[in-house]
Amino acid sequence: MSLMDTIQRWFGGGKPEPRTPPKAGGETAERPSRTDATARTDTRTETTSTPTGEDNAMSHHIHIHPAVDDGVRPGRDDFAGGTLRCHCPDDKVEVTVEAQCAHNHVCGCTRCWKPEGALFSMVAVVPRDKLKVTANEDKLEVVDPSAAIQRHACKGCGVHMFGRIENTEHPFHGLDFIHTELSDDSGWAAPEFAAFVSSIIESGTNPDDMSAVRARLKELGLEPYDCLSPPLMDAIATHTAKAKGVL
Ligand SMILES: [Zn+2]
Ligand SMILES: [Zn+2]
Repeated sequence: MSLMDTIQRWFGGGKPEPRTPPKAGGETAERPSRTDATARTDTRTETTSTPTGEDNAMSHHIHIHPAVDDGVRPGRDDFAGGTLRCHCPDDKVEVTVEAQCAHNHVCGCTRCWKPEGALFSMVAVVPRDKLKVTANEDKLEVVDPSAAIQRHACKGCGVHMFGRIENTEHPFHGLDFIHTELSDDSGWAAPEFAAFVSSIIESGTNPDDMSAVRARLKELGLEPYDCLSPPLMDAIATHTAKAKGVL
């Protein structure tokens, strides 16, 4: 299966979706300019590894995601779920998840919801039967009904509360996508890798900055991949092979 097929399966089911350029007021325009991102001062102390050279000087000005910029915090083995809340000041949409998440990762695609200033989203999966909207469900709407992953976003604040796949043929049908940063509960499984890293260029990142971004991801222990991680790519290919009858 070619990379484009893979990406189309992931984002659009069988149907290719046009990649729209970043536009003012759109999802991808929320990221601040390079100037804003680099102007921020950083008072963090060094954590684990200490790479040398130019990448090190730049790496601490790179805002991967607020949940990992100060180092990746491990999850708890006995954690069994929590409550996600949107960013509205009141009448928050509330989603209750009765399970630990799996495959948590940072994602550079242009579809996932990213907090302001972050180059990546952070997204994980949970079984869909473990996820329930428990308050203000009427504020939710599907961002793009034609997308493979139906992202249910709050009409008030724009935060994506969960993504759901309705196509039963999809390799990840049965799993909902969530952003664990929306939960005050601690213990969610930590992000393990970085997916669709090259796609941040589509949101306006200068291609010349990519080696520094990848170096920072490696420093954080988030191995950068330009599609999904090998286990997830293998899972997709296995699903496809079984559907074709070759496995
Ligand atoms: Zn909201
Ligand atoms: Zn994504």
